[in-house]
Amino acid sequence: MAIIEVRNLTKVYGRQTACREICLSVEEGQIFGLLGPNGAGKSTLVKILVGLVYPTAGEAQVVGYLPQDTKGRRQVGFLPENFRLHGWLQGEELLIFHARLAGRDGRAARQRATEVLDLVGLAGEGKKPVANYSKGMQQRLGLAAALVGDPRAVFLDEPTSALDPLGRRQVREILLALKEAGKTIFLNSHLLSEVEQVCDRVAIINRGTVVASGRLADLQAGPAAVSIRLGGLSEKLATELRGRYQDLQLEGNRLTLALSDREEIAALVARLVAAGCRIYEVAPGHNSLEDIFINLVREGEQTCG
Ligand code: ADP
Repeated sequence: MAIIEVRNLTKVYGRQTACREICLSVEEGQIFGLLGPNGAGKSTLVKILVGLVYPTAGEAQVVGYLPQDTKGRRQVGFLPENFRLHGWLQGEELLIFHARLAGRDGRAARQRATEVLDLVGLAGEGKKPVANYSKGMQQRLGLAAALVGDPRAVFLDEPTSALDPLGRRQVREILLALKEAGKTIFLNSHLLSEVEQVCDRVAIINRGTVVASGRLADLQAGPAAVSIRLGGLSEKLATELRGRYQDLQLEGNRLTLALSDREEIAALVARLVAAGCRIYEVAPGHNSLEDIFINLVREGEQTCG
């Protein structure tokens, strides 16, 4: 069952349409990535889903409730993009405060604060004032605050923007651990490689409109480049291949060409072997999310069905 359901959602600010008839659904237990260039409408959509902004038209349900329904909000965590933490509190105090807001009292709040500090790799740092935390530590503390109420669904708006590569990897590991635990994660990010590494499904939005959505593997299917390291390629076969694949490149013993479908790779390799070539390596290039993203954002818009 979909835990997040968005139907024809539109948000207009004055003359600016931030989201235009957006449709999407996210199944429970998935990591969902929302991608788009700056100003595409990602933050607006997330703010609507966590009940901070009302849509102009359309509807959304999160964990079975309207976003502003407090019954649903108790089951949702949120890390905004530009959050400010209370610098004068210790990390642990801040999390105890959030745990109390989420309905835990005294000892249970303290215990939960310790658990989430541990979860985000800040065990032992809880007694320091937040103002003394590095940016990366503050971002992880923000993530801990989003998780302190043990939410079923968590919305993270650019959760790794202040992190170095090691910190990003740690956050990725946390996200995968949360998924293991059955949580649903809605991730807004402009870091395509990050999304590529953790998300089950993605939607790409551009100028407020969904231009593609689906499983990453499906978005990446279709035309593919392949690079083959080989020996014994005759001039005759090279000419034949040049006639067939216009963008074929042959540099030394490496042949690179684009196929209309990755299924053609096997047939091509069989043809080469039959012609007496020695194959040392076949490296199928895949359509990176970056390629897909750039093509779609350039192509313009299409409405979701
Ligand atoms: P993203 O998160 O993808 O960068 P946003 O959702 O922040 O995009 O913004 C989408 C568009 O809506 C932008 O053109 C932005 O200027 C506009 N916008 C966002 N919030 C407001 C607001 N509170 N008032 C007016 N315009 C806004």
